[in-house]
Amino acid sequence: MGVEATSTAQQAIAPVETPEPSPWTIEDSEALYRIDGWGDPYFSINAAGHVVVSPKGDRGGSLDLYELVEGLKQRNIHLPFVIRFSDILADRLERLNGCFSQAITRYNYPGSYQGVFPVKCNQHRQLVEDLVHFGQPFQFGLEAGSKPELLIALALLKTPNSLLICNGYKDREYIETAILARRLGKQTIVVLEQLEEVDLVIKAHQQLGVTPVVGVRAKLSAKGEGRWATSTGDGAKFGLTIPEIVHVIERLESVNLLSSLQLLHFHVGSQISSISVIKDAIREASQIYVQLAKSGADMRYLDVGGGLGVDYDGSKTNFYASKNYNMQNYANDIVAEVKEACEQAKVKSPVLVSESGRAIASHQSVLIFDVLGTSEVMTQDTVAAQSSDHLIIRNLWETYQLIQLENYQECYHDAIQFKEEAISLFNFGYLSLSQRAKAEQLYWACCQKILPILQKEEYVPDDLETLRMNMASIYYVNLSVFQSAPDSWAIDQLFPIMPLHRLNEQPTRQGTLADLTCDSDGKFTQFIDLRDVKSLLDLHSLKPGEPYYLGLFLGGAYQEIMGNFHNLFGDTNAVHIALTPKGYHVKQVVKGDTMGDVLSYVEYDREDLVESIRQQTESALEDGTISISESQRLLNSYKESLDRYTYLSVES
Ligand SMILES: *Cc1c(COP(=O)(O)O)cnc(C)c1O
Repeated sequence: MGVEATSTAQQAIAPVETPEPSPWTIEDSEALYRIDGWGDPYFSINAAGHVVVSPKGDRGGSLDLYELVEGLKQRNIHLPFVIRFSDILADRLERLNGCFSQAITRYNYPGSYQGVFPVKCNQHRQLVEDLVHFGQPFQFGLEAGSKPELLIALALLKTPNSLLICNGYKDREYIETAILARRLGKQTIVVLEQLEEVDLVIKAHQQLGVTPVVGVRAKLSAKGEGRWATSTGDGAKFGLTIPEIVHVIERLESVNLLSSLQLLHFHVGSQISSISVIKDAIREASQIYVQLAKSGADMRYLDVGGGLGVDYDGSKTNFYASKNYNMQNYANDIVAEVKEACEQAKVKSPVLVSESGRAIASHQSVLIFDVLGTSEVMTQDTVAAQSSDHLIIRNLWETYQLIQLENYQECYHDAIQFKEEAISLFNFGYLSLSQRAKAEQLYWACCQKILPILQKEEYVPDDLETLRMNMASIYYVNLSVFQSAPDSWAIDQLFPIMPLHRLNEQPTRQGTLADLTCDSDGKFTQFIDLRDVKSLLDLHSLKPGEPYYLGLFLGGAYQEIMGNFHNLFGDTNAVHIALTPKGYHVKQVVKGDTMGDVLSYVEYDREDLVESIRQQTESALEDGTISISESQRLLNSYKESLDRYTYLSVES
C-alpha cells in the first residue's frame, strides 16, 4: 500500500439526509394506523401519543393502554398478555340489543329479539360468566355447538327465559341431557342439523317423557360469500335440505310431536362482508319460516345464526376484512324482512334470535407483546472507496454519489449490476472477503439513499418495490402467531396491529413482524390498509433500554381457543380489567402456561425430567467434567424453568 493511499482520508458516508419533515402529529398516526376506522368508539390516541381504551364506548371513562401495560408489568405479569375489558363486552351486548330494539320500534315489529352467544367463539369461563351476567336484562342466552359446550351452557346459564340453543353433531347422550334440562327450567332447543337426529329426539322423548322443543337448521340456497361461503348451499356440512325438512315434519307429526317444532335456524357463515348476502338469506329463511308455520308446526323462533361482521381494516367496504354495513343496518334488514313475510302470510311474527359471536367478543380483548429486537440492513460503517479499492468498489462508490431524484432508477440498476459483478469476482477468487463486504455495504448504502426518494414518489415502479421490501426491517416479537393469532397464519385473516406508544413520533421504519417460533410461517406480513392490504407496517426504531409495545386488536373471537402449541409456546397470561370511577380494577389474572404445563400436555413428567438431569450431573461429577456448584446451578435453573412462562422475559 503506497503513501498516497493512506493519505486519503477515510471519509465516512454522512447519514442519509431525509428532507426536514413537518412535525408528526397524533392525527398523522390516526390516519396511518386507521384507528378511527376499526377502533371507534373503543380505541383512540391521546395527547401523550399513547393508545387509549374507552371500554364503555362513548359513554365516558378511559384508560391509557401504555400506562396500563406498565402497571401490569409492575404487578409481575409478564408479556405477552391478553387484556380483556369486560366493559367492552357489556357494551357490545348492549349495542346489539339496542340495535334490535330500535329496529323493532322503527318497523313496529310485533315480536321481540332474544339473542344467544355462541360459546365456541371464546369459551373462557370468565368471559362466558360475564356474558351471562351482562345479558340478564336482555334475557340473553347461549348457543352450544358440542357436548362440552353444552355442559358449560347448562351450568352457567341461569337467566330465566333465556334460550339455550343446542347445535352441532349430537348423539343420544347430548340430546337426552338437553331435553332433561328442561326439567330444570332451561329453555333448551335442540336444533336438528342431521336427519338422523329426529329419531334420536323422538326416542329420547318416549323414554324420558319430557316434551322437547326442537328446531331445524335449513341449508339455504342463498349463497354466502368469501371465506365461509360454503357454510350454506347444497354442499354445506350442516343443515337439512328442504325435502329433509319436509321429512322431519312428517316424522314428528307421525308421533304427535309436530308442536315441538318451534324454531327455524340458518347460518350463512362467519364475517359476512356484504349486506346483500344477509338480505338474500333472510328473505329465503322468512319464506321457509312461514311455510313451516302453515304446515302445522308451532313456530315461535327464527334464529338467523352468526355472520355479523367486524370491520378489521376500518374501510367500511365489502372487502373480506371489513363489512359494508353496520349493526343497525343488520338489525333493520332482518326485522323488516321477517315482518313483511309474516304479515303477507298472516303468520304470527317470531321471536328473532341471533347467534353473533365475532361481533360480540372481538373488541373486548387486546393482545399486547413487546419487540425483542430488529434486523436491519447494515449501512452504518460504510466508508468511501479509496484508490486502492478494486474498480468495482470504486464504481459502486461513484454510483452512490450520483444518486438523486432525476436518476435514482438508473443508479439502482447500476448498483445491482456492480454488486452482482462483485460477487462473481469473489467467486473466482479476485476479491477478498473484506472487499466483498465493502461492495455489499456500498450497495446497501445506495438502496438506503434511494429509499427516501421513493417514499415521496406517487408511483413506485415494480422493480423498485422490491427495493422497498429488501430494505424492510424484521421486528422480532415476543409471541407465537400459532398460539395467539392462529387465523392470521391459517386463513390470512387481518387484525389491526399498531404500537401502543410513541404515536406523536414519526415511525421511520417499515417492517414485518417475526414471532418466536422456528417456523418460517410464524410471522405477520400483511397489514390493514384502506385499499387491499399492505406488506409492511410502519414502526418506530427501537430506543436502547426502552421497551416497544405493540397491540393486536379485535382478536377476542376464535383466536384464543384455536391457538396451538407449536414449538411449545403456551397460553399467554390473560388479565381481566374493569373500569372504575377512579381508574381500573384488575378483576382477574389468569396465568398462562408454564414450561412444566406445556410439557405435561405432551406427556412429560416433570419429576422424570428433573431426575434425568440429576443423574446426568452425577455421571459428569464422577467424570470430573462438572463441579458440585455448577451441577447444582444447572439443576436449579432447570427446575425453576419448569415453573416459568414459555415466552421470553425481556430485562430492560
Ligand atoms: C360459528 C357459528 C356462529 C357464530 O358466528 P359469528 O360469525 O362468529 O357470529 C353462530 N352460529 C353457528 C351455527 C356457528 O357455527
